[in-house]
Formats: sequence, structure tokens, C-alpha cells
Amino acid sequence: MSSLLVDDIGELVTNSADSGDPLGIRRQAAVLIEEGRVAWVGPSRYAPAADRRIDAGGAAVLPGFVDSHAHLVFAGDRAAEFAARMAGEPYTGGGIRTTVGATRAASDGALRATVGRLRTEALRQGTTTMEIKSGYGLTVADEARSLRIAAEFSADTTFLGAHVVPTEYADRPDDYVSLVCGPMLAAAAPHARWIDVFCERGAFDADHARAILACGQAAGLGVRLHANQLGPGPGVRLGVELGAASVDHCTHLADADVDALAGSATVATLLPGAEFSTRSPYPDARRLLDAGVTVALATDCNPGSSYTSSMSFCLALAVREMRMTPAEAVWAATAGGARALRRDDVGALRPGARADLMILDAPSHLHLAYRPGVPLIRQVLHNGVPQC
Ligand SMILES: [Zn+2]
Repeated sequence: MSSLLVDDIGELVTNSADSGDPLGIRRQAAVLIEEGRVAWVGPSRYAPAADRRIDAGGAAVLPGFVDSHAHLVFAGDRAAEFAARMAGEPYTGGGIRTTVGATRAASDGALRATVGRLRTEALRQGTTTMEIKSGYGLTVADEARSLRIAAEFSADTTFLGAHVVPTEYADRPDDYVSLVCGPMLAAAAPHARWIDVFCERGAFDADHARAILACGQAAGLGVRLHANQLGPGPGVRLGVELGAASVDHCTHLADADVDALAGSATVATLLPGAEFSTRSPYPDARRLLDAGVTVALATDCNPGSSYTSSMSFCLALAVREMRMTPAEAVWAATAGGARALRRDDVGALRPGARADLMILDAPSHLHLAYRPGVPLIRQVLHNGVPQC
């Protein structure tokens, strides 16, 4: 059995609950990796012998980022829409249909190449776990192939047939909901772990969302939800009621939404890249954290409203614009993402966990927010394997 020791770690973020602070920071530490898993964590001076060794040179080491919300299966881009928005046009979500047209017209090979490119881009930036949604096909065949391709890159694939009502169903949304719950779900479910609905004015209302999510649950899929992004609405409370793993965006919340989340196992996943890219007000992370809600951070990587794969960028926005402490933001981008995906094998560095970690070109996790836009991630290990 081949072993690898990551040694001379100046600051090790473990996210391990057995210490007093949430990040479970250890100083002058080492991590032993065997068979792609963490085998031992402890002080450098007690580190066991290993076949190979990586010298972190006193730098900070963190668990790999867990990006629990990304839309990577698409074709084309919407750079012109972004430019128009920055010139003053509002964001309505209507541009999704532009991407649907391009995605339907694309070959499997083109879609696979885009997912692969973005997944590699994210991995280089420290993202070792990445959820991938469908949602730009919106036909039985196109949703099924989107998920089939997504599953080549992620264990956490999400069926988002209910992203928007496609143009051909514009005057009969009930028929589209029947399609999603029937043949589309049947074709998608073998390739999906989760089901998601864009519950928003202009997309799907609470009744439609409830019907679709219930069908997904009956097919064995876990529930997640796009909720309360563009305005107040019923999405967050519906998600909590259905036992969703996560409700995502949470930008416009009533007190009752915060109370519902605080008393639940549902994670609030905040996606500040979307507010940045649509020049919208940010969600109030402080209010959620102070109420005791579990918060995750994710990119929402998609060609319309948040075309970034950088978790470090989202983390910096969360600290600067949403009043999260750097420690809260690091936790939310790693352990929080794992909670949002109901994964206990990622997001923390403790014996038995996947050996997914990043070595920074910095002495502390604080630098991720303190030095925004700087490529601080020196090396990434995924399942114990150093990435290029
Ligand atoms: Zn999204």
C-alpha cells in the first residue's frame, strides 16, 4: 500500500469537530494519505514514515472546496447579455432560454468538452467536489444526455428539468410539469442523485415545485431548490417542509424563512457570484448565521448569471459583501458544501475522509479573502493524487 505524507504544514484547517474552533486548526501539522484517504492527522514531529513526501514549507493546507451548486452542461456563452446588464439592463432569468437553444443544438462531444474544461478549471482552483446540474436541455432526450455527461464528472448530479418552462410549452405550463414528472424524470433519474426546481416568479410556482419535487423524491432523488433569488417567495419554506438538503440563493428572506431554516437540517447555500454578476443586493449571511442556520457557499457557475468557477472569489465576496468572517466563509466553502450535499467523506480532513486538499501559497486561510483575485492555490490533491 503506497502512502504519501504532506508534511511541514504551518496551518492545517481540518474542519474537525473534536477541537474548539469550527475550522479545527492545527499548527505544525502533517497529513498521512493511504489509498486516497486520510489515514492520520497530527503534529509534524510525530508523523509516521511514508513512501513519498510533499513538503508544504510552512504554508496553510485546507480541505478542497466543495462547490455544491453549478450548471456546467451548456453550450455557447452570454457575454453580450452580461455587457448589456452592466450597461443597465435588469436581470430577469429570461436568458436561460438562449442557452437552452444552443445546448439542444450542440453535440455530445461539445457538451462533454465544456463540462471537462470547467471541471478542470475549478479543480486547479481547489474545487475537489463539484455538483453538476442539468437544466439547459428541457426535453426528455436532452435532459437525459446532460445528466449522462455530468455523471462522467461528478457523483453529485442534479436533474433540473424544471429550470424554466421552455418556449414550446409557454402557454401550457401544466403540460410541461407533467412531462418533467413523467418521461423526463424516468429518463433522468438513473443518472441523477438530486432533483432541483427553480421556484421563482417567471419560472415555477410553489404548487408546480411541490409536485415536481415530490415525484423526484418518489423516484429516489434527494431534494434541493433554487429559492428566493429574485424576490420574496415560498421556495425556502417549501424546501424546509420537504426536507431539502439545501435551499439555494436565499437572497430575499422573510423572518419566517430564517426561522424555518434555523429549526431544520436544510442548508442555506449562498451564491454571491450571482449577485455580483447581476449587480443585485447580496443575501444577508450575517442574519442567517446569527440565527443558527447552516450556511454553504457555492459558485452557481453558469453562462448567464455567474460565469465563475472560483470558490476563492465567492469566499472573498462573502467576507467583503455579506459580513461573513474569513473563518465562516472557509467553513461554508468546504464543510458547508459537504453538508449541502449530505456528504460526510469530503469537506474535512480527518481519518477516513477523502484525501482532497489544497496547499496555499500563503501562511493562513485568511489570505483567501485578504488577497482576492490572486492565484494562491499552489497544489491540489484529489483522492490523494497531486493534480497538475
Ligand atoms: Zn443555479
